[in-house]
This record gives sequence, structure tokens and C-alpha cells, in this order.
Amino acid sequence: MIIEPKIRGFICTTAHPIGCATNVQRQIDHVVVKGPIPSERKRVLVLGCSTGYGLASRIVNTFGSGADTVGVSFEKEPAETKTASAGWYNNRAFEKRAEAAGRIAVTVEGDAFSDAIKAETVAKIREHLGQIDLIVYSLASPVRTDPKTGTVYRSAIKPMNTVVTSKTLNTGTGEVSEIEVQPATDEEAEATVKVMGGEDWELWIAALSEAGVLADGFMTLNYTYLGSELTWPIYHKGTLGRAKADLDRAAGAIRAQFGEHAAHVVALKAVVTQASSAIPVVPLYGTLLLKVMDEMGIGEGCIEQIDRLFRDKLQALALDEESRVRVDDWELSETVQDEMKRRWALLSTETLESLADLGKYREEFLKLFGFGLGGVDYSADLDPRTIG
Ligand code: NAD
Repeated sequence: MIIEPKIRGFICTTAHPIGCATNVQRQIDHVVVKGPIPSERKRVLVLGCSTGYGLASRIVNTFGSGADTVGVSFEKEPAETKTASAGWYNNRAFEKRAEAAGRIAVTVEGDAFSDAIKAETVAKIREHLGQIDLIVYSLASPVRTDPKTGTVYRSAIKPMNTVVTSKTLNTGTGEVSEIEVQPATDEEAEATVKVMGGEDWELWIAALSEAGVLADGFMTLNYTYLGSELTWPIYHKGTLGRAKADLDRAAGAIRAQFGEHAAHVVALKAVVTQASSAIPVVPLYGTLLLKVMDEMGIGEGCIEQIDRLFRDKLQALALDEESRVRVDDWELSETVQDEMKRRWALLSTETLESLADLGKYREEFLKLFGFGLGGVDYSADLDPRTIG
């Protein structure tokens, strides 16, 4: 079949096997060209390994530091007439290239929140790596089933205690409008903490520890977004921010049990991913950020951020007052934020094109699903089960 993008709201329901593989290769090339990254942590577990920041983390560790990896992600397999999820194609393309480079790359596909997938992952670690030196937690999900009680929790991306009015963007039409987001109920706020807070991270560390597969001196990282006052009302000071604050609590608890540097939260910049495109206000902020940072010559996507995390930030560990590693330093610099605020005030449907880069945002979004990549023949008749 000829595979084309089918966009429904903020999701694309198809993915291109060769395009996804090209996207994986482009990220590998970025790391390889920059040269090796010194690291003692050669056995790495990446939770949420198939797209966005997790995929970039797996690539940087494998192709920068020569690590062997086990990855976990949630995917849809392809069928004769249906494409797989982008993450499925990314996983296959990554494994193929990692194995060709002489690295072990094992992937477990299923619900990382479940006890069964934790047990399967432990078995794969025992079989292939023995123990783990680094765990990257990069899951982003709107729903989590508590493995102990079976209760299903759904996150709600809403403000706390107050109605928020903000500019927002319809990325399909390019229309900038005002939205009013009602505050979350206590129940919604608690559910968001259950889904995106630190509980599952702690359960993973406990499961790995009980199974004896955590190496002495292991480290675990979990990714957060703090952002600036432009997104605080909907993000940092809202339900998601509350869930992310729970990561700081969980990091402290893991450090108390396993040592001073056993766990750190890493603050990353806003980038276009499947998870971030679903958050109100964030795509508008993102289109603006793309243009402002590109014009200043400091634009970064997932691979650039994660490369900088491992190549620079983790080498001589500098932490903020909450023991977090900060790779959002360029985004949150005064120069960038002053320009963001100036342009934000001027944003409207009419001014969007001159102030922000919706074209690049759309391109980046399509690339997540393997569309719009150079060198790919999108007119080719392909079996969706093709591995690129
Ligand atoms: P993403 O949507 O690109 O990736 C999410 C990953 O989680 C995928 O591999 C997916 O398969 C996996 N996943 C989701 N539910 C799962 C489940 N039940 N079981 C197994 N795997 C599952 O997301 P992302 O934007 O890369 O986000 C990763 C982390 O980075 C999140 O904690 C996010 O808050 C953080 N972060 C993102 C941004 C941003 O702008 N995108 C900025 C800073 C921090």
C-alpha cells in the first residue's frame, strides 16, 4: 500500500516504516558525528524507549557510550493492510542498527505500568545484560492501571484551583484563539499524579532491586518539564506540574535508599513529541520557541537535548536546589524568554506567520510518524510489515 499521513486532531494514525527508520538513522548520525561519550554505565534500561526523549536516550547511550540496552514501550504491531505505531518501526530500526554495531538491543513491548511487563523485563535483563547501571524513565501516558488495585487512572491536563484563560493554537488551521480551561477537581489532580507522578518509577526501582538486577552505584533519571511563566498556569502550576513535583519526592526517596546520586530528575526543553502535542497552549508556545531559538542559533530537538545531557551535563554533575539536572537552561535563559514574552503578547492568527514557525512545527510533527523525511520514496507501494 501507499502509506500516507492520516491526521486526527493531535495524533497521526499511520506511520511510515522507511521514514521512521530514516528518522532513527538521522539521530544515530547526530551522535556518531560528535564522537564517543565517556560513560561507565554500559548496561542501560530505557522505559518509554520508542519515541521522543526515550528513543533519543537509547540512541545516545548505544551509539555514544557503547551501551547495551533493554527498552520497554507500548506499541501497535503492523498487519497486512495497517501500519504499526511509529514506535514499533522505531524499535525495529533501532534494534537492527544497534545489532549491526555489535550492541545488544532487546525490546519488551507492553504496558510498563503492569507487574507482568516488569517481570518480563527483569527476565530479559537477567538473560541479556545481567545487571543494570542506568535506568532512564521516559514514559508519557494519559492512562495508568494501578497494578495493586486494578483501578484505572486518567490524567487531566488542567489548572489547579483557578480558571485559566490563555492563547492557544489550532495547529491544523493555524488559528490563534483564547481558551478557558476549568480547574481540575481534587480527584482529577490525584489521578494525574497517579499516572505521571513518581509511584511507578519507584515500583520499577523496587522490582529491579528485589530481583537483584541493579548494579552497585546504579543511577536512574526521570524527565520533567518546568517551563516559563508563559506555560506555568496550564503546566507547572497545574495538574501535570503537581505530578512532576511528585517526581522530585520520588527521586529523594530513591536517593535516601540507594545513595546520593542514585536518582535525579532531569529538566528538559519543550520539543515536538506525541505527548507534548496533546497539551493545550504548549503547541503555540512550541511554534514560537522553534522560531526564537532557531533565529538565535540554539535550536534543539530530542536528540540534541539528550546528547547534551549525557555528553556535557552528566560528566561534571551540576544540580539545582532540587537536585535536578538542567538541560532546559537555553530555553529558560533571559534572552530567550524576554523574546518569547515580547512575541507572545503580539500573537494572533494574523501575526503567527511572522512571529512563530508553524510550518516547522508541522514538519516536526509529521517526522514523528516518519513522514516528510528527505531521501524516502513516499510513492512506493509498501507492505506495512516492512522493516527499514
Ligand atoms: P513520547 O510520547 O514521545 O514517548 C512516550 C514513550 O512512552 C513512548 O515510547 C511510549 O511507547 C511509551 N509509553 C507510553 N505508555 C506506555 C505504557 N503504558 N507502557 C509502556 N510504554 C509506554 O513522550 P516524550 O515527550 O518523549 O516524553 C517523555 C518524558 O519526557 C515525559 O516524562 C515528559 O513529561 C518529558 N518531557 C517532555 C517534554 C516535551 O516537550 N515533549 C519536555 C520535557 C520533558
